Amino acid sequence: MQDFVKILGLKHRREVAGKSAIFSGEHFVLEETDWYLLNLFRLWWHYGISFLRLQMWVEEVMEKFMRIYKYQAHGYAFSSLEELLRSLGGEAFVNMTQRSVAESLLEVGVTQRFVDDVIAAVLRSSYGQSVLVPAFAGAMSLAGAQGSTWAVEGGNKLVCSGLLKLTKANVISARVTGISLHSSEGRALYQVHYESTEGQGSAFYDLVVVTTPLHPSRSNFTFENFDPPIPDLPGAFHPSVTSVVHGYLNSSYFGFPDPKLFPFTSILTTDTPDLFFHAMDNVCPVNISAAFRRKQPQEAAVWRVLSQQPLEKPQLKTLFRSYYSVQVTEWPTYPRYDSAKALPPIVLHENLFYLSGVEWVASSMEMVAVAAKNVALLAYNRWHQELEKIDQKDLMHKVKTEL
Ligand SMILES: Cc1cc2nc3c(=O)[nH]c(=O)nc-3n(C[C@H](O)[C@H](O)[C@H](O)COP(=O)(O)OP(=O)(O)OC[C@H]3O[C@@H](n4cnc5c(N)ncnc54)[C@H](O)[C@@H]3O)c2cc1C
Repeated sequence: MQDFVKILGLKHRREVAGKSAIFSGEHFVLEETDWYLLNLFRLWWHYGISFLRLQMWVEEVMEKFMRIYKYQAHGYAFSSLEELLRSLGGEAFVNMTQRSVAESLLEVGVTQRFVDDVIAAVLRSSYGQSVLVPAFAGAMSLAGAQGSTWAVEGGNKLVCSGLLKLTKANVISARVTGISLHSSEGRALYQVHYESTEGQGSAFYDLVVVTTPLHPSRSNFTFENFDPPIPDLPGAFHPSVTSVVHGYLNSSYFGFPDPKLFPFTSILTTDTPDLFFHAMDNVCPVNISAAFRRKQPQEAAVWRVLSQQPLEKPQLKTLFRSYYSVQVTEWPTYPRYDSAKALPPIVLHENLFYLSGVEWVASSMEMVAVAAKNVALLAYNRWHQELEKIDQKDLMHKVKTEL
């Protein structure tokens, strides 16, 4: 992603300082302060060295994950998600998609209390799920929570629109309704059917990459003439609701009767029954001028509230003294990680590939970008019969000895 931003001449969006806290439904179990050392002391006081153990665990996973960039720079590709993970971190990485993050962290000496208070809060705010999400997805989410994430000035969507322009691709704005298999001179040929405002159409392609989930609840097109048929993939998606509220925060609910004294801009929550939201944060515009300042806590501001169900009026009234507007987006977002055991395939047919399965390893833009490059390399290597560039073992050694 960093490279894309550079190529496109985009800028990182300026960070606006703000403090986080974890709310149990009754009180804050952990509060960030302005003082780095005090924050460290508080973590140590409450949780011993769990946070250091967590950091070491996440760093180890990330260090191994970063190997993918080297492999891809040398043109190597993988025909399954399992092979990709195995090449990065051995069988342990594959197992990390099957066992929970809680189990993995407890094993490296992180305490149950730290898991319940801190890990649960991070996972609720990122995936809207519990500490039972698989360890790999958990590690990605926890890496993101350590403050190393960034956004693009003007909005992250500029990366997509910029890249699209750069490739000079022929974009057909339409909804795909189906893909049917034909053949030409012994080679598979795929007919992609679509409908747009101008009506229905279709076109033939040698290579097709499907980049939207193929699970019954999400899939919105059909495959025809494939023998054996392309099966529906198992697994469900987790409903998630984002409410963007412009209003006055009810700081009393959080134990601050005087709104002027409310210090937090991001509130995470523990896994407490009856707590009706996962997280909320005070959002800033996608363009941040040098003069931009956050609103004072007693002023009306824009808050993003994440929840599993749409917020009811009394719940909104609990979080906000009053509000001007509420915009609600509801969609089946992340994979429900406990709903499928095996990882989805990358190769659906000879030259028909599937990208979105990577979300079942971990759902993030970086994972999808890595998977997209893998599919591009895989398609290229298969097309040109460069089979020595696919599913190779011991790549760390190979890339070190290659020029
Ligand atoms: C609420 C939320 C917050 C997130 N926050 C972050 C974050 O902070 N950082 C991060 O890294 N990741 C985040 N993610 C995850 C990230 O958004 C996804 O990993 C990423 O968008 C996946 O990219 P994609 O291109 O594979 O799929 P998508 O972005 O889902 O794109 C698929 C596209 O296919 C289109 N489509 C579907 N069916 C058809 C059809 N039949 N014909 C034509 N087009 C079709 C859809 O309209 C959609 O535009 C978040 C996700 C959600 C839901």
